[in-house]
Amino acid sequence: TNEEAVKASTEYFKGDVLAATVFVNKYALKDSEGNIYEKTPDDMHRRIASEIARVEAKYANPMSEEQLFDLIKNFTYIIPQGSPMTGIGNPFQIASLSNCFVIGNNGDSDSYGGIMKIDQEQVQLMKRRGGVGHDLSHIRPKGSPVKNSALTSTGLVPFMERFSNSTREVAQDGRRGALMLSVSINHPDAESFIDAKLEQGKVTGANVSVRIDDSFMNAVRNNELYTQKYPIFSQNPKFSKELNAADLWKKIVHNAWKSAEPGILFWDTIIKESLPDCYADLGYKTLSTNPCGEIPLCAYDSCRLLAINLFSYVVNPFTADAYFDFDLFKKHVAVAQRMMDDIIDLELEKIDTIIEKIDQDPEEAEVKRIERNLWIEIRKKADEGRRTGVGITAEGDMLAALNIRYGSIEGNTFSEKIHKTLALAAYRSSVEMAKERGAFAIYDAKRELNNPFALRIKDADPELYNDMQEYGRRNIALLTIAPTGSTSILSQTTSGIEPVFMPVYKRRRKVNPNDKDVRVDFIDEVGDSWEEYVVFHHKFKMWMEVNGIDSAKNYSQDEINVLIEKSPYYKATSNDVDYISKVEMQGAIQKWVDHSISVTINVPNDVTEELVGQLYMKAWEVGCKGVTVYRDGSRSGVLISNDKKE
Ligand code: UDP
Repeated sequence: TNEEAVKASTEYFKGDVLAATVFVNKYALKDSEGNIYEKTPDDMHRRIASEIARVEAKYANPMSEEQLFDLIKNFTYIIPQGSPMTGIGNPFQIASLSNCFVIGNNGDSDSYGGIMKIDQEQVQLMKRRGGVGHDLSHIRPKGSPVKNSALTSTGLVPFMERFSNSTREVAQDGRRGALMLSVSINHPDAESFIDAKLEQGKVTGANVSVRIDDSFMNAVRNNELYTQKYPIFSQNPKFSKELNAADLWKKIVHNAWKSAEPGILFWDTIIKESLPDCYADLGYKTLSTNPCGEIPLCAYDSCRLLAINLFSYVVNPFTADAYFDFDLFKKHVAVAQRMMDDIIDLELEKIDTIIEKIDQDPEEAEVKRIERNLWIEIRKKADEGRRTGVGITAEGDMLAALNIRYGSIEGNTFSEKIHKTLALAAYRSSVEMAKERGAFAIYDAKRELNNPFALRIKDADPELYNDMQEYGRRNIALLTIAPTGSTSILSQTTSGIEPVFMPVYKRRRKVNPNDKDVRVDFIDEVGDSWEEYVVFHHKFKMWMEVNGIDSAKNYSQDEINVLIEKSPYYKATSNDVDYISKVEMQGAIQKWVDHSISVTINVPNDVTEELVGQLYMKAWEVGCKGVTVYRDGSRSGVLISNDKKE
């Protein structure tokens, strides 16, 4: 039962009920009657290792189930994320193993039929568990002439609501679907798109991002006019509109300041740096991103995610002798890349099962035509490009364990070194796999000669680059940094490249004052009694234990403040880290990540709109592909607060 699994898993996680509940609710194998077949993550890791070993056995030098199990058990080193974790070897769900999809029209059809087709595709993918993104720039702007009974078109905003509602309808065992809607700043409706979520209760089922090009950024800087067009960037547009770039920029910044959206995608940087875009004419033109922004994708491509737990490579954490084991890290990165490639084979099997299921009912063939074609297209791209999403979690805890302050110059330099090492090891692994298993089907060295990311690899490791030109590589694009939301709960670390949120916080637990052994710390306005207790971030607790500080004692707020001050987390939390420095860190890391980075720049409640604008500008200048700013308190219910009641 659910209860038994939570109990066993709580023991597994040494008392961490949150981790246990996330595991049981989101990832443990279960059937539609609610029977649970996995008591603890050990069972899940066994299932995953055995399936990956089955794929390994098809290729040269296979890894054994035992070797794979050792690398994924306890969330210590390599963590297949989300969809792979639930879906691999799962006979109860016909689901996909992809965390991310992008779908789209590739520029032409904005007929009702075309829009409904996207709506259907979105739901079909969400039903199989992935997050979906699509771009609305192909939809004709508000007021365009149409020949139907409306005479003029509605523009793209009403469709945002439709796609958002469709998203909210799809449940995914323990979570909801997630959607990204993007639009180009060049589209005449961009301004209404940016404003669409300002109205309370509107478009609540989608994240929204604007694709911003360099010419717009330059126009903002130089206070120039900017021309929006439909079709976007057309030489011969049906519609065009001139506006003051700085005014539109101000609006974007204002809304982001006010409500943390829209997110920004620096589109020219994304395209220029993208290896898949070297194959744009073969269908790999990047169109939008997945819901959290870390994977820019062409239409009908997908990506699966995996995170390497950086904390675990710190030997003697939190001591004066702490160091990072680069050799072990490089070895594991190579294996992680290989596991991701194996998972593509498992995904192709899953897609075949989905298609078989559709074909089982020939009488429904007409109704299921769109769904079937969708999976055929997705299968083709997955097979041809073999895209992977190898990433990390626990950057913040890793730095702290090495006694390096997050946000310091030393920290940024070290992080850049980590991600450069990771990129080179992953690319090396993909090239070695090309020798053993073959390069991705459309690899063509000539196409990539001027790609800045490939040239960076060449600069850093000429031998690797030469081998890549000779043998190709197994995967069209390899790396990412995802938010690792539930992943970091399971690994009990900080998430992605984020700093710790709060090293120590207080929680209140409602108590019956007549019970024995309770302490009443607080009585609220309706007379209920509450006991307050302190919760330590896991690795903060480890720092305490390493330094002989009692973590079971009930500390006062003053004592806690003193503790934090002594720790490597001091002035290095999401609320007090230097935000300019964080943007610089993101830019430095981005150079070594071929997809993108999901990260939130947290700023205090009282910062000005101007500062948010400066952060965005800085992000563009230092080479970030996207950025989200969250001003403390600007959105309710997003983050846990200091005195959250249970
Ligand atoms: N995602 C989703 N729905 C969710 C959470 C995540 O579709 O509720 C997808 C989405 O594409 C997101 C990606 O999974 O960008 C990765 O999210 P995260 O790293 O937080 O995944 P987790 O750690 O929970 O596996």
